[in-house]
Amino acid sequence: TKEDVKSYLFRNAFVLLTVTAVIVGTILGFALRPYKMSYREVKYFSFPGELLMRMLQMLVLPLIISSLVTGMAALDSKASGKMGMRAVVYYMTTTIIAVVIGIIIVIIIHPGKGTKENMYREGKIVQVTAADAFLDLIRNMFPPNLVEACFKQFKTSYEKRSFKVPIQANETVLGAVINNVSEAMETLTRIREEMVPVPGSVNGVNALGLVVFSMCFGFVIGNMKEQGQALRDFFDSLNEAIMRLVAVIMWYAPLGILFLIAGKIVEMEDMGVIGGQLAMYTVTVIVGLLIHAVIVLPLLYFLVTRKNPWVFIGGLLQALITALGTSSSSATLPITFKCLEENNGVDKRITRFVLPVGATINMDGTALYEALAAIFIAQVNNFDLNFGQIITISITATAASIGAAGIPQAGLVTMVIVLTSVGLPTDDITLIIAVDWFLDRLRTTTNVLGDSLGAGIVEHLSRHELKNRDVEMGNSVIEE
Ligand code: ASP
Repeated sequence: TKEDVKSYLFRNAFVLLTVTAVIVGTILGFALRPYKMSYREVKYFSFPGELLMRMLQMLVLPLIISSLVTGMAALDSKASGKMGMRAVVYYMTTTIIAVVIGIIIVIIIHPGKGTKENMYREGKIVQVTAADAFLDLIRNMFPPNLVEACFKQFKTSYEKRSFKVPIQANETVLGAVINNVSEAMETLTRIREEMVPVPGSVNGVNALGLVVFSMCFGFVIGNMKEQGQALRDFFDSLNEAIMRLVAVIMWYAPLGILFLIAGKIVEMEDMGVIGGQLAMYTVTVIVGLLIHAVIVLPLLYFLVTRKNPWVFIGGLLQALITALGTSSSSATLPITFKCLEENNGVDKRITRFVLPVGATINMDGTALYEALAAIFIAQVNNFDLNFGQIITISITATAASIGAAGIPQAGLVTMVIVLTSVGLPTDDITLIIAVDWFLDRLRTTTNVLGDSLGAGIVEHLSRHELKNRDVEMGNSVIEE
């Protein structure tokens, strides 16, 4: 019908606009590079992009809470239990596959040439163990103060860790690559201060804790019969209102993305200094992420649903590009919701339930990256990892990806957990900082893709429960 055609054009105009924004942003960024803008000028220039980030982040907190509460409340406990199991199995499977890909790829390509003196000293104090990492993760699931969890991150043992600066950075091959060590230090300090090196926290929000609470809360009010109606209505209507705000921001997104990308290209380091091992490392990460995102995940989707994964991914384009532009899967969350529900027609009961959890704990790209980077650092240090240590790395990389917040470069910070668990020098994170902004965007895109395909897979597996529920709740289906 005419309406269909109109909405088709409308949707594609959106995608077209977003793709154009990426292209124009890239060209504009490179065109402006010769002008060597000052830090302040870059800040002014990328201001429209910064605004997009802020607007998206603004919506994340109410979106996570309202969608999870309504999502849980809309399902009966048996259905939500089954769906939850499916989602968790999917998250775990894909995360472990990602970690394994990362490990295999980095061992095969072997980007770290061990040129650095073997600086590993036996008996170096290991500050965080795999058990610590897991306990902290669980600790964060239960914030003692909900209000505080909404704006202030949780204190954990790694928060006060100090990154020592490798004084002999220039003696190392990679240290020389980062031609300006003090700048690298500054970045690291900035990451520590701004990005909150605390598992499970988003911009000062303990997302993991809120996710757990919202799910329990939704579960309870879902079972409360009439007494829960007021709360169900409240959160339903809150969720609807937030989604309408998202629709408004969607219009602004292409412009914001254009400036985010252009601004980043203007300020990035000269590629000339990124030589040798770091270049190989970058290539290795890209290959690993591509294998996971382009082969493994679509294949898994196809095997489970027997539907064309590329059609599904096509509907996600705007979310994926937003992830690329913002390097934050939680900031992208509102857009992911819109794409899945409107373009791909995924059931709202699924998206509300699965997406906030996925954006918080399911980070395939980050898991792959953490394992890969840790082994790269071992290679640079001539540090031979035994099988047990590789297993430790895979476990801690998984924990670190669950704990990493969906904010820019959170994965770089939770690397500390992985490195210390096998006694690798955490200072060596400075070696990979120079390229992290770029790799971060790619792993964020992979993270968002994993969450979205997961929603599609869980929906497919849960189609019977959803149908039964529809029959049971006859009225509410007609209402929708
Ligand atoms: N930036 C990533 C995300 O938001 C997390 C990471 O640093 O790996 O998904």
